[in-house]
Amino acid sequence: MKTLTGIPVSPGVAIGKALVLRSEDSFVIAKVEIRSEDIPKEIVRFEEALTKTRSELFSVRKKIAIELGHEQSDIFSAHLLILEDRTMIEDVLSKIKEEHVSAEYAFSLVIQRYFQAFAQINDEYLKERVADIKDVGKRILQNLRGGVQESLMKLKEETIIVAHDLSPSETAMMDRERAIAFATDIGGPTSHTAIMARSMEIPAVVGIDQVSKEVATGELLIIDGNRGVAILKPDAETVERYTREEKRFVELVTELDKLKTLVAETLDGHKVQLMANIEFPDEIPSVIAHGAEGIGLYRTEYFYMNRTDLPSEEEQYKAYRQVAERLAPKPVVIRTLDLGGDKFLSSLDLPREMNPFMGWRAIRFCLTRVDIFKTQLKAILRASVHGNLKLMYPMISNLTELKRANELLQESKEELRKDNFSFDDQIEIGAMIEIPSAALTSDVLAREVDFFSIGTNDLIQYSLAVDRVNEKIAYLYEPAHPAILKLIHQTITNGKRASVWVSVCGEMGGDPAMALLLVGLGIDQLSMSSFALPKVKKAIRSVTFREAREIAMRALEFTTGEEIKKFSEAKLKSVSPELFEE
Ligand code: PEP
Ligand code: MG
Repeated sequence: MKTLTGIPVSPGVAIGKALVLRSEDSFVIAKVEIRSEDIPKEIVRFEEALTKTRSELFSVRKKIAIELGHEQSDIFSAHLLILEDRTMIEDVLSKIKEEHVSAEYAFSLVIQRYFQAFAQINDEYLKERVADIKDVGKRILQNLRGGVQESLMKLKEETIIVAHDLSPSETAMMDRERAIAFATDIGGPTSHTAIMARSMEIPAVVGIDQVSKEVATGELLIIDGNRGVAILKPDAETVERYTREEKRFVELVTELDKLKTLVAETLDGHKVQLMANIEFPDEIPSVIAHGAEGIGLYRTEYFYMNRTDLPSEEEQYKAYRQVAERLAPKPVVIRTLDLGGDKFLSSLDLPREMNPFMGWRAIRFCLTRVDIFKTQLKAILRASVHGNLKLMYPMISNLTELKRANELLQESKEELRKDNFSFDDQIEIGAMIEIPSAALTSDVLAREVDFFSIGTNDLIQYSLAVDRVNEKIAYLYEPAHPAILKLIHQTITNGKRASVWVSVCGEMGGDPAMALLLVGLGIDQLSMSSFALPKVKKAIRSVTFREAREIAMRALEFTTGEEIKKFSEAKLKSVSPELFEE
């Protein structure tokens, strides 16, 4: 038994078998020499691995074609072609025969030569193909090792996913029924993979140094998402203890869910709107189950991921309409495409950047690729007649961007009018406040919008210069930092002066102690991963507005994030000790 610690990013406990996703360094294979008489056996092993990979790719292609259409499945046709590459196959066979090495080793040498050759080519399209070769290569190696062949999309049994890192697009592809926890070597608390784990309501721990090397596929593993711990090869007693804990956790969640029909108001009747964040429409049942009053952030970029084309206006309209109808009359805030940072799309051939979080992304990208932006705006506008939709722009950094986005919205409305489409002309428009410059000029931005939504995940990252996905500096990622409270306070004050309502849709709002502070600062709405709603509601229902204000005002006087965190948690504990029972 061995215990490794990391950063807890999604609560709960899971006990199960690990599936270790190896990253590209798995192409570095130890040299294994073989005897001459074993050469034929090794060749057969290699050929069998190719056959198996081929049949796997055929079935994945079929599945994708059925679920997402032929265009999406074409990528796997490219993968199949790589498998047929005679030069690659001959190279591997001759290495086995001439150098007397194992098939794995021979294959790894050949495929690495391919990577090197492709890396030197100055052609973006061909460079992209490296990813395809890696994908196919990983499958071949997995099959050679006789390891687990489950793809992420279709797991055979309940599985804990262990990886060096998981991209949001990999996470999005995952079998949501059977993936019961994540553990990764790297990653920060508000990386989108961590956020996805919370949406999926499964425990996750990131930043566990070397976990993907220490754990082997098929091994028993416990992930404790409450404490940020992974226990490798646990003994029977530990398994039993955690089984009890898992049960207790589920009971606590069920108990808190009983609050779902109650309003989120303080003891003296001050109401706060509690909303849910979603990445996919299939999260709606959970949003409803946890008692959300609507959706405060629909991250539409996931709609654009894991596909080789861009979604059309019609396709987006249908999807947004469905969400609007399922939630109506409750509101749904649709955020326009926020790509970049740690979220990339395979359909767009974007240049690699030194600082992707500060690069050509989100609204900056949309204001240049007006075609893509207007297609989405029109889809949202058309869907707006089917429910209570609101629209917001991510990553606004100045007034000019906001005005330009609004101009494009007006143009989209005109074009829809010409084409006789109906839409809600009064649809509310919001700006996300997630860059310090936006918070500091929120008085000016307020003139152009109906609401602000403070994206604390990015606001913290940009204000404190702490990459949100980097586990090494996660200790500096402080939601309670005095600078963050000041920026939020200023945004709320400026919003109120201009009759602009203000929400917090970053993860900070889902922390009950921070939520009390935000309520005290006068926030109108909090939007969070839906599982966090009951806890936050419980906290809000445990104080008077006056107490919340006192907490906030006192917090603004402290000089360090540590003090603020400690103080607000102590306050929460005194008003709602039940929340600390777990
Ligand atoms: C944020 O930055 O706080 C936010 C809600 O947006 P995202 O997490 O998608 O960047
Ligand atoms: Mg953001």
